[in-house]
Amino acid sequence: MSLNDINLLTENIHWLTMDQAWHYRVLPKGRTSERLQLYCEDSADENELLAELEVIFGLEIVLDPIPVTQIARLLSKYYLKDNAPQDSKQVTLSKTPDDFLNNLIQEAKSLKSSDIHIETYENKCRVRIRIDGMMIERSLIKREDYPALINKIKIYAKLDITEKRLPQDGRINFKHQDQQFDIRVSVLPTLHGEKVVLRLLNNDATKIDLNSLGFSTFDLDNYLQGAKRPNGILLISGPTGSGKTTTLYATLKLLNKETRNILTIEDPVEYTLEGINQVQLKESIGLGFAEALRAFLRQDPDVIMVGEIRDTETANMAIRAALTGHLVLSTIHTNSAWGTVSRLTDMGVHPFLVANTLNTTVAQRLIRLLCPECKQFRDFDSSLYPKQFKPYVEITKHYVANGCEHCYFTGYKGRKAVYEVIPIDQELSAEIKGGNMNINGMLKERGVRTLAENAFNFFSAGQTSLEEIYPLLLNY
Ligand SMILES: [Zn+2]
Repeated sequence: MSLNDINLLTENIHWLTMDQAWHYRVLPKGRTSERLQLYCEDSADENELLAELEVIFGLEIVLDPIPVTQIARLLSKYYLKDNAPQDSKQVTLSKTPDDFLNNLIQEAKSLKSSDIHIETYENKCRVRIRIDGMMIERSLIKREDYPALINKIKIYAKLDITEKRLPQDGRINFKHQDQQFDIRVSVLPTLHGEKVVLRLLNNDATKIDLNSLGFSTFDLDNYLQGAKRPNGILLISGPTGSGKTTTLYATLKLLNKETRNILTIEDPVEYTLEGINQVQLKESIGLGFAEALRAFLRQDPDVIMVGEIRDTETANMAIRAALTGHLVLSTIHTNSAWGTVSRLTDMGVHPFLVANTLNTTVAQRLIRLLCPECKQFRDFDSSLYPKQFKPYVEITKHYVANGCEHCYFTGYKGRKAVYEVIPIDQELSAEIKGGNMNINGMLKERGVRTLAENAFNFFSAGQTSLEEIYPLLLNY
């Protein structure tokens, strides 16, 4: 079993109070009538810990030291809920689901949350919000209040309140005082009732800026050279929720000049940008990415942004647009920057056409940054790295996540994107034509930094933890 697989049994969580777990930084492992097994930090003074814990529990204590990063991860995973400043309280909605909803949405927005989940189980109904990618429980709702709340949301989103067996999607334009933004609503019938997810969309793109997303200076230079070319395809790859769209919007902002005609087809339109013609995808009426692209070409565009290339038809339309002198920006679902090439050829695009149109390929991931208020400085032992990872800077100290009221006891606050940027030059283009996938040597010569290398830079600079970038180092 690798350390990453350590999971605690939920029924064991109550052996320790939240205070005990956080104070001693220990977690329940196993128990017999006279013995309690606990995970502790490998840097802990075990004798001191044993002495105190044996008094507290009146049991023989057996400690199993594991890396501090693991303790931090497990503490925030299992001992977060009760620890957060606002305890999950059972709320009674009384007669105002309106107020409850208003408050909830405003609160989520002010916490920079991206989604609100309202869900029902056999014995409880709860509200969770997602902050920096992590779900945090906010409140429990009485079962009898739940239907009224869901109905209210459906009314706001102009959905059919009598339909409770099929999924529905809608949109709310939320206005309160000086705030105004759109919310995408998704209703899903589950075993115990309807689950609702509210995605809070950012209507204001003025704050996003290419310089602050996470690019290194070197990568940003390369990226901008591609984005400023008059034609070709610039593709960003990465899993869902890796911030690809934000990078594209920041790019569009930069390209948004009076002299350019910019068209976008998106699902959903996440930000609105003044001066750009944005179209919402609507597959139910036959307006898909490919159909929109076809129509765009008759609209004399300079720059086209396509939300995602996910089928052959869209890929071919994007290639056609690029070949006829347009700059096409889009995202694609692959794991690596170079993987984009094989993804396109797998979709049936001829390597020759990929070679002639692809101008820049980018991979990106989001990593959480350590909370500056509570991160802790510790000695670092290089045996903590994944085996195949060879650091190019020696690290002797590092920061680990802790948790405080500023970060909802998660130890993290805010996120940055980690990038890998490959500008396609003539030589690389020739490799694409020849179907050569093994181009690592050529990328090194060009100084291309991999996702792992750029992630490591955030770690060595003390901005994030080893645990947070660990999955990226595995692909070193
Ligand atoms: Zn903190």
